[in-house]
Parts: sequence; C-alpha cells; structure tokens
Amino acid sequence: YDSKEGTKEYAFYTKELGAKVKRKRRLEAELDEAVRSGAIFVVYQPQVDMRTGRVIGFEALVRWNHPELGFISPAEFILIAEETNKILLLEECVFRTAGRQMKQWADAGYTDLKMGVNLSAKQFKSLDMTEQLTSILKEVGLESCSHYIDVELTERIAMGNEEQTLHTLRRLKEHQFHISIDDFGTGYSSLSYLTRFPVDTLKIPREFISLIAEGEEGQGIVATMIGLARVMNMSVIAEGVETKEQAEFLIGNGCYHAQGYYYSKPLSAEESTAFLLHANGCI
Ligand code: C2E
Ligand code: MG
Ligand code: MG
Ligand code: MG
Repeated sequence: YDSKEGTKEYAFYTKELGAKVKRKRRLEAELDEAVRSGAIFVVYQPQVDMRTGRVIGFEALVRWNHPELGFISPAEFILIAEETNKILLLEECVFRTAGRQMKQWADAGYTDLKMGVNLSAKQFKSLDMTEQLTSILKEVGLESCSHYIDVELTERIAMGNEEQTLHTLRRLKEHQFHISIDDFGTGYSSLSYLTRFPVDTLKIPREFISLIAEGEEGQGIVATMIGLARVMNMSVIAEGVETKEQAEFLIGNGCYHAQGYYYSKPLSAEESTAFLLHANGCI
C-alpha cells in the first residue's frame, strides 16, 4: 500500500465529486431562468408510417442549450429537475409549447397527427394531472382536442404506485388522451400490469431494435414484442430505427410505425413543418 498514491487518488475523487455536485447545483439554480430565457426549448422528432413515408405524429423532446456549458442532455437535467419540484414547471412549459405547435399544424389542416409528450413520475402522481393538461389545451386553443396528445409513460413511472397510475390513466382515457408505454421491456415490471392498464401503443425501445442486426435471437425478441402488442390490441411503434435493414425487418413483421435517425433526427419547429409539408404534402 502506497500511502502517497492513496492520498492522491482520494484527492482526485473528491475533486471529481466536488465538480459533479457543483455542476448539479448550478443547473438546478439556473433551470427556471433557462425556461424563461428560451435556453430550454422543444424539438420534435417525426414518427412515420414506414410503408409510405407519411408523418403520423411527432415526439416532443426537451433541449437545453446552456450559454457556457453548451448542450446538456435531458437525461441529465430531467433527473435534476425531478429531484426538485422544478420538473412540474418545466413540463408545463414543454406541454404548452408542444400544444401550441400542434394547434398550428391542426389549423393548417394536419388533423390526423399526434404529439407525443414525455411526462415524469411527479406529473403522474399529481392528482389533477388530467385537469392540468386539459386546461393548458384549452389555453392554446385545443379545447376537447386531447386525442391529438399521446401521453408517454415509462415503465419506471408506471411501477411505484400501480393503483394510482391505473386511476390516472383511466382519467386520461375518459378525456380521450392517447397513452403509450415508452421504453417497454427495459424496466423491471411484469407483463401483468400492462394488461390492466388502458394503454393504446407500445413503443419498442432502441435497445431492442439494435438487436435486429445481431441475428435470430434479437429478431425473435422484436417479433415477439410486435406479436404481444397485437394480442393485447395495442398499436406498436419502433424507436431508434437507424437502418434500412431494421425498417424492412419491422415492416415484414407487421410493425409499420417508427421514429429514428433513419427517417429524421429531432427537428426545430420550422424544420418539422418543412418535413411535414414534404412528407404529407400541402393540405
Ligand atoms: P425517450 O422518450 O425514449 O426519447 C427517445 C430518445 O431517443 C430521444 O433522446 C431521441 O433523440 C433519441 N433517438 C431517437 N431516434 C434515435 C436513433 O435513431 N438513434 C439514437 N441513438 N437515438 C435516437 P433525447 O431527446 O436525448 O431524450 C432522452 C430521454 O429524456 C427521453 O427518452 C425521455 O425519457 C427524456 N425526455 C426528453 N424530453 C422530456 C420531457 O419533456 N419531459 C420528460 N419528463 N422527459 C423527457
Ligand atoms: Mg418518449
Ligand atoms: Mg420515446
Ligand atoms: Mg423511448
């Protein structure tokens, strides 16, 4: 044991840790201002019908372009926002922005699109979630247009408190919201809850889609997930489709909807409108 080395390492780790804590505190402190200033904004990833190339909807994804720290992944700041109560403010802002965008597209005649939104565990735990969402829709001019909204629920969120989740999902369905399970199969949940929850769409995560290239086993898993959705009367969409081969395999196995870099990365509002115009034509 070299005590000198040990001290050096210890100093290194505390420094690393210190920097992490500092960065976290900083992001936490600057979150509200970033929402207000527009440094936090929303991009939209097209979801397409792979057989025709038509856009069927978009997923709203939040972005933070920090003036000094540069691009910060939602994977990092969503967690920070969740630990504080700032997630509710952030998601309200994302939902309002996505709602306004959907209103613009609907006004332009694109009335068969859906807008996917990711909501946190905190949202699902707030008892008046449905009322909050419907009141924002009303505010942006989409009163009684909840069917445009696809609420994405992750397994991680669904677990925790199944009875309450079930209650919230029923309320959302009473109001015609569309419900998807995001990242299906990556959590630690059992299948049994899925059969109880009023879910419309199953999203097959990128982790599984990337197995398609690896051969029979991966392909079997993906084909089974598609079959599972079918027997449960759910529609299915593949996430993270990056290659032509993946797209062809999915189509051949009865999954026609996808989002992924093969079709498009997440886009700004203007780029999304251009993409829509090009893919679906002028209405
Ligand atoms: P998610 O909901 O599963 O979103 C899909 C993620 O996959 C997005 O990452 C998207 O950019 C990425 N992606 C899509 N297609 C491809 C592909 O072909 N290849 C690769 N490598 N990646 C692809 P992003 O935008 O970094 O978001 C990460 C996660 O952060 C999201 O996963 C979601 O869970 C969360 N998130 C994003 N926006 C929000 C939000 O407004 N609220 C909440 N609560 N969570 C959000
Ligand atoms: Mg999602
Ligand atoms: Mg997703
Ligand atoms: Mg996902």
